[in-house]
Amino acid sequence: MVYLTGAGPGDIELLTLKALRVVREADVIIYDRLANPEILKEAKEGCELVYVGKEDGKHTLPQDQINEVIYQKALQYDTVVRLKGGDPLVFGRGGEEAAFLKERRIAYEFIPGVTSAISVPAYAGIPVTHRGVAVSFRVVTGHETPNKAQSQVDWESMKSDETIVFLMGLHNLHNIVANLLRIGREADTPVAVISRGTTPEQRTVVGTLGTIVDRVREAALPTPALIVVGRVVELRGVLRWYEGEGETSLQ
Ligand code: SAH
Repeated sequence: MVYLTGAGPGDIELLTLKALRVVREADVIIYDRLANPEILKEAKEGCELVYVGKEDGKHTLPQDQINEVIYQKALQYDTVVRLKGGDPLVFGRGGEEAAFLKERRIAYEFIPGVTSAISVPAYAGIPVTHRGVAVSFRVVTGHETPNKAQSQVDWESMKSDETIVFLMGLHNLHNIVANLLRIGREADTPVAVISRGTTPEQRTVVGTLGTIVDRVREAALPTPALIVVGRVVELRGVLRWYEGEGETSLQ
């Protein structure tokens, strides 16, 4: 059995009970960079630990090789845990891994995790929806550049007051901002960038579409980081609870 398992966003207490159970039962754990290494301490003695994570920018293992590793371990062991940061199906490629296993008649289960897309804003005091402020939110890849010939990201539809959470976008922030301004979003639209959310190193930089690129550059925020766009960011002024000192003013 292969458990395609979410490790949560960082804070180990955001691991689900089900994920903890399979981590303790696992014969092998195949894990990513974003999975909190503290979780691995829960593994039983003799459990094999296989790192297949991606370092910033460089890929330790391409996805097809990761698929192959999972498959080979499934042939070798009874209980395989594939541990991924956040939720395995939110930009986690868990679906691809499952399809690969399905073709080879290997049984699997998904164990959802607490995705960073919602929990990291929460730890920064930003609710992704809020009565009278935002009635919907979406989670978008921040990885695509605006000049990509055939963008799959529907920028034109991002004109409403919906909250937009961009994952994987830190190094592309200037392009994301440029695109939102291009479709007519106001320069004073609130933006937050949250780095290493739910961990003791969490840092949040807030600003507007007009200021955020410079502010994030000055702060030299490390990855992983996500970007929240929308008026819900203003609520942080009142609702922040987790970080110590830091910026709250949008101006
Ligand atoms: N499956 C994961 C997302 C994988 S994509 C999930 O559900 O959370 C990786 C991106 O997630 C990073 O580039 C970053 O944008 C975001 N991310 C993951 N953990 C984070 C954290 N602790 N703080 C801020 N962003 C995080």
